[in-house]
Amino acid sequence: MTKALSSDQTTPEPIPFIDLKAQFQTIREETLEAVQRVFENQSFILGDEVAEFEYDLAQYCDSREAIGCASGSDALLLALLGLEIGPGDEVITSPFTFFATAGSITHCGATPVFVDIEPGTFNICPEAIEEAITPNTKAIMPVHLFGQCADMEPIWRMATRYGIPVIEDAAQAIGAEYRGRRAGVLGRAGCFSFFPTKNLGAAGDAGAITTDDPELAARLRRLRVHGDVGEYRHAEVGYNSRIDALQAAVLKVKLGHLETWSEARRSNAALWQELLGDRGLEDAIELPVEAAGCRHIYNQFSIRVLHGRRDEVLQKLRDRKIGCTIYYPKSLHLQECFASLGYREGQLPESERAASEVLALPIYAEMPESHQVQIAEALTEIVCEAHSRSTVSFPFEMPDSRAA
Ligand SMILES: *Cc1c(COP(=O)(O)O)cnc(C)c1O
Repeated sequence: MTKALSSDQTTPEPIPFIDLKAQFQTIREETLEAVQRVFENQSFILGDEVAEFEYDLAQYCDSREAIGCASGSDALLLALLGLEIGPGDEVITSPFTFFATAGSITHCGATPVFVDIEPGTFNICPEAIEEAITPNTKAIMPVHLFGQCADMEPIWRMATRYGIPVIEDAAQAIGAEYRGRRAGVLGRAGCFSFFPTKNLGAAGDAGAITTDDPELAARLRRLRVHGDVGEYRHAEVGYNSRIDALQAAVLKVKLGHLETWSEARRSNAALWQELLGDRGLEDAIELPVEAAGCRHIYNQFSIRVLHGRRDEVLQKLRDRKIGCTIYYPKSLHLQECFASLGYREGQLPESERAASEVLALPIYAEMPESHQVQIAEALTEIVCEAHSRSTVSFPFEMPDSRAA
């Protein structure tokens, strides 16, 4: 009796935003075997492990070449340097993304030019790109945010017309498709991150660049080793940005499971749509959409919480120990470090609105269905509470709160 009572009063188990241990349990043996093989061989830099992973990655993306490097951030930087982008050049990109997108542009000496996003997909708006093109524009860097490709066709058309290369920030989008083609082959170079929480996550930092251009590939291969073209001859000044053999070995194992994991994320997304769509919540929240012709692989499932209630809803979910988070709370054009670029608040309104409305719900492949049901119930309660309170107009609310 006492036992039943206390278990009723126990606060529910916390629901994690992501559970990497759950995934590891499904691939434990083969991952540890791969790690052991690298240790037995004591070959930690480049070599067969890296070459094999690069081959598999190129196959997976249907690109001619894949070049491993130290991180997704370095993939972006190396791609820019490989295309000779530098001081005086402008690179048009999205302000609603992870910092590294714009950081890489600044690091190569160029200037990021931020243009607004499309509210439906959170991705860069092609018309806005065209308006921002100047004679100094030397690259366009669309981001396939949350795992869905940017609207690439109009971007290709203007890139061709103006002769400007497209560099995809595909860090969140491995396996995402646009009209049947995979992220990574939708521009001159595709940049991937294998940060542990990405859909294909390493055991630490790692990244890669895909390209169909053999000359660019050769250049990237030397840029990642100090510009060395063999026998300590340096064609140019490069970096130390190799992918570790250990990471390549782990990633090769995990790449073999990626399709299964992506499908699991997609079916979790479908369940979110079922649990939260058509439930009379449309005045309070908006669910993400998969654009026509796109395969979304849901690195994140970001909803919008409308009417300025996002932070309140987030806090209430956290009070119930439900893991959820915000990607991203501040548009990059308003970041302190870019103040010298002279952007003003209100200048890129869709990006700013997204930053104030988005809320990412858990979507990882191994997530139990029961968690989704629990979260959907909690979220429904919370937004209905907030909503009914707001519909009571001010004079009617006063007597109640005085009485209380
Ligand atoms: C993760 C990420 C990066 C950077 O990748 P790292 O491997 O963490 O350096 C760049 N762009 C976007 C959109 C990302 O999500």
